[in-house]
Amino acid sequence: MDTMMLYNSMTHEKEPFKTHEPGKVSFYTCGPTVYHFAHIGNLRSYIMEDVLEKALRWEGYDVLRIMNITDVGHLSSDADTGEDKMLKGAKRENKTVMEVAKFYTDAFFSDFGKLNNRYPDVVQPATGMIEEYITVITKLLDTGYAYQAGGNIYFDTSKLKKYYVFNDHDVEALVQGARDDVEIDPNKKNKNDFVLWFTKSKFEDQALKWDSPWGVGYPGWHIECSCISMKYAGEYLDLHAGGIDNAFPHHTNEIAQSEAYLGHEWCKQWFHVHHLNTNDGKMSKSKGEFLTVSLLEEKGYDPMVYRLFCLQSHYRKALTFSWENLDNAAAAYDKLVRRIAALDPAGEVDAEAVKTYNAQFQAALDNDLNTSLAVTALYDVLKADISDATKLSLIDSFERVLSLELMDHAKALKEKETAPAEGGEEIEALIAARAKAKAEKNWAEADRIRDELKAQGIELIDTKEGTTWKRV
Ligand code: AMP
Ligand code: ZN
Repeated sequence: MDTMMLYNSMTHEKEPFKTHEPGKVSFYTCGPTVYHFAHIGNLRSYIMEDVLEKALRWEGYDVLRIMNITDVGHLSSDADTGEDKMLKGAKRENKTVMEVAKFYTDAFFSDFGKLNNRYPDVVQPATGMIEEYITVITKLLDTGYAYQAGGNIYFDTSKLKKYYVFNDHDVEALVQGARDDVEIDPNKKNKNDFVLWFTKSKFEDQALKWDSPWGVGYPGWHIECSCISMKYAGEYLDLHAGGIDNAFPHHTNEIAQSEAYLGHEWCKQWFHVHHLNTNDGKMSKSKGEFLTVSLLEEKGYDPMVYRLFCLQSHYRKALTFSWENLDNAAAAYDKLVRRIAALDPAGEVDAEAVKTYNAQFQAALDNDLNTSLAVTALYDVLKADISDATKLSLIDSFERVLSLELMDHAKALKEKETAPAEGGEEIEALIAARAKAKAEKNWAEADRIRDELKAQGIELIDTKEGTTWKRV
């Protein structure tokens, strides 16, 4: 297995990707908070994570992809203050929290699937893990990493040798995490302490509550990802992904509590996707312009155009969305499909060329998931002096990672071009009239119909089974 070089937010360097068990990757992704539709910014993160997963599979790894669904505990500020997001969604829509969670979970996976992201091997809603949170929090209390104050349980960040594991990686994200943290929780011993379990809070109307040794309450946001990851991947997680805004405080807190609980290093490789921005900044669920996959479809864009738009840039650069940029991606996509549709599948596949271009493609992926170079490899194949059959075989291979539906779209285009676009029914009606004329031995009429169709460019083919036709 060749080594993939991946940037690691933990070390701030590109490093050879290593796993705890050779050939196997446990890969955890922070899932959506299901109080609203996912916007295409959220989906940028999921597309890039999907390409990473598929690149690892393409290279022969056995990948276990795990995703949580945040349906409890996430407040409007990531620092445990502000409104409860799920409750906010429920109030807005006059529904129960669980109804809202179900609706937006389904909506999320529908958009996720439309963008050709592979459904994760494990999808775990946060509300299904209460026992596990209690076990971990109990141990953190027993070992002095957590304390009770004002009825809530907090993680004590002063107990760690190092809390800011990602600290100097992105000032913007740090500021972002802190910006909406206007309220100060007087129960906290240290500024960055965070809630593991809420019992007393201002959310008296919190719909979801569970019994715990510390009173009826509900979990904090961060604990879910630690517990879900440990439940399915064990004590060593190989790869953890999320949008860059998750690095602080969410991932920082996940690491704090997981490592305090386990007593050893938990996850070595951190993959953060940078934001999709609009002209007025980061696209967010709580703010202004909110673009969804459905909106793109309503405006006539195929979701694959958005996927290509994302793949054309590197995941570690902020990407600015504009309709003009999307139109450029649409034109590029259309052109790719046309060029592929024009390829003739007959002929020999050149095994040497397949090897060479697959190596070019892999080198792009191994170079910190350089998807734009991977797309360039596709263009190089189309331009290359190799047989069409070889090109098709390579496109098939690349598509296992890119998942742009190029072959399907090319096939559909070909069918559209060869089949009669319109008038099919009229032709069938004339063929039926001609059959009737023939049965009545009215040869003149039968010939007249044949000539009429011929004048329209339709050639009839008489077989024992009946008459078919083609455009000439
Ligand atoms: P949420 O549903 O808010 O928990 O976010 C789901 C995922 O989308 C997380 O991994 C976020 O880091 C990521 N995310 C949020 N906003 C953006 C954005 N504008 N661009 C890219 N990823 C984002
Ligand atoms: Zn998470």
